[in-house]
Amino acid sequence: MCGIVGFAGKERAVPYLLNCLTRLEYRGYDSAGIALSGQRGIEVTKRKGKLSVLTSELMSKKQSQSQCGIGHTRWATHGAPEEKNAHPHLSSNGYFAVVHNGIIENYEALKRELISQGCKFSSDTDTEVIAHLLEKSYCGDFLSAAKYTLSRLEGSYAVAVLCKDYPGKIFCSRWGSPIVIAKTDKGNFISSDVTSLMEYTDEVVKLGGGESALVDSEGIEFFDKDMKSIERSPEKIQWSVEDVGKKGYEHFMLKEIFEQKDTVSGLVGEYVRGGETSFPDIKFSDKELFEFERLIFIGCGSAYHAGLAAKYFTRGITGIPCEAETASEWRYGSVPVNEKCLCVFISQSGETADTLAALRKARDGGARTLGVVNVVSSSVADESESVLYTRAGPEIAVATTKAYTAQLVTLYLFALRLAKLRGRISSAQQERLIGELLRAPDKIGGLLKTLPEKMKALSREYYTSEQMYFIGRNTDCAAAMEGALKLKEISYIPCQAYAAGELKHGTISLIEKGTPVVALMGNSALFAKTLSNVKEVKSRGARVIALCSEENYGKSTDFCDSLIPLPEGGEFMSCLFEGIALQLFAYYTARHLGCDIDKPRNLAKSVTVE
Ligand code: GLU
Repeated sequence: MCGIVGFAGKERAVPYLLNCLTRLEYRGYDSAGIALSGQRGIEVTKRKGKLSVLTSELMSKKQSQSQCGIGHTRWATHGAPEEKNAHPHLSSNGYFAVVHNGIIENYEALKRELISQGCKFSSDTDTEVIAHLLEKSYCGDFLSAAKYTLSRLEGSYAVAVLCKDYPGKIFCSRWGSPIVIAKTDKGNFISSDVTSLMEYTDEVVKLGGGESALVDSEGIEFFDKDMKSIERSPEKIQWSVEDVGKKGYEHFMLKEIFEQKDTVSGLVGEYVRGGETSFPDIKFSDKELFEFERLIFIGCGSAYHAGLAAKYFTRGITGIPCEAETASEWRYGSVPVNEKCLCVFISQSGETADTLAALRKARDGGARTLGVVNVVSSSVADESESVLYTRAGPEIAVATTKAYTAQLVTLYLFALRLAKLRGRISSAQQERLIGELLRAPDKIGGLLKTLPEKMKALSREYYTSEQMYFIGRNTDCAAAMEGALKLKEISYIPCQAYAAGELKHGTISLIEKGTPVVALMGNSALFAKTLSNVKEVKSRGARVIALCSEENYGKSTDFCDSLIPLPEGGEFMSCLFEGIALQLFAYYTARHLGCDIDKPRNLAKSVTVE
């Protein structure tokens, strides 16, 4: 959430700041702003709305020649999305400009204190206290003021600061929220993530928690939490700049949906060797993996749904008791765990604040921890005992598609490994299941040829729906929840997802003539059971869209208004195929409705706040 950027070089800063902010806009887009450092002081321009509003404003003004500045694209946590709350925030005397990603949890107490000292606040944000604290503690030394200010903050932050007395220099620091720093031949950059810098460099320094840096056109100095100088060396970015373009697709989301064939084949290539699952980098021994007595899958949003699916298929195939939990809930309350319990933390960005907090809680409670993340060296990856990377490449659309699919596949491969170690599957069964996975990319490729037209037509019939219900059992239920979330996220149609058998225990009262119900019946073992629920809603007038395997197609036709046949594939594969089908359904529905698909309202990717 929120993208922050900084540039200090030997060319005009504005084009670089705007270019980086464009790449970061998926992190927040309710307002944007920049501050430029110059000999005459700090100059701030900020606007409510998307980055394009700020860009037009900057283009209409006299072009600043400043070669150093900071920028921000906001996802509001404190204070409405208005111009006064947009970052950068200035201190009262205009000496300091601050951009911030995170939440200052003690900002109310700090604000009271600062007001009593005469500070005048001009925004409703938590961030503004940082600017005033800097001003109040400044006696001519930027670093000392920064050190004092940071020591007063509770909560999470990635901050970048300009000081009038230090033209051409940017101070930045992080606690919780991420910052990467790069030295390039154009100048030196700071940013919330690597995707905005890949055009300029293939290596960055990831600032550690509590670390700071002072950046100018000549170089970068790093500091530890006591502001003592430290050395940091850059690491290679694993993605290429081509990965962050739209490649001719109308939207990033569509491009990312179409990349899923490669996502799956890449993962299978990575984690299957000689017909066996293989995780050479995992830090648990086979004995430790064998001895886990309980697994808890923890994540937020779609990552939670991947965990929910994993609960069902892992439990089934390994016999290990499994649970799935939303991180924002699990992090609070009493959660007894021990060293026989493996907590699996699932997060695309690896920076999800709730997931990170849950991870720390699990560690403190004595559980073993495994991260399943997409972004290399992210906080969840670094703080887990071991990590499995989902290798989906950069995902730019706010609504996840390929990263979710990659989580499912990674978790399934891990489940196969556990099952084999525990002797729950024979070599022949393993060969069959891995064979299915090896064939999955071709099946996904086939689906991506036929499904888009079908889903486009289907969404034309349903895009004016006032509400929709999604039902399924076990992994189909996890897919139903993910399908409903996808549709809600980008089309804003209210959707509810239920375990199919639960409907009759209350929710069926809402079904009336014409209510759309999407029934997920891909898992052939549970097809007949879910079909009974379809008959129940059909009898009450529902319009049913069913997703089922080709072999069950004929058995469903009488009870369903629309049928989407999926390749045959059992418990795991059905949930994979259903996910892709419903991503397309959500995409085309949102397109019919004219929604901003890649940047849906109120959302942002990489939720680094609680
Ligand atoms: N708390 C700050 C604000 O509301 C930053 C929000 C964020 O990082 O998402 O402006």
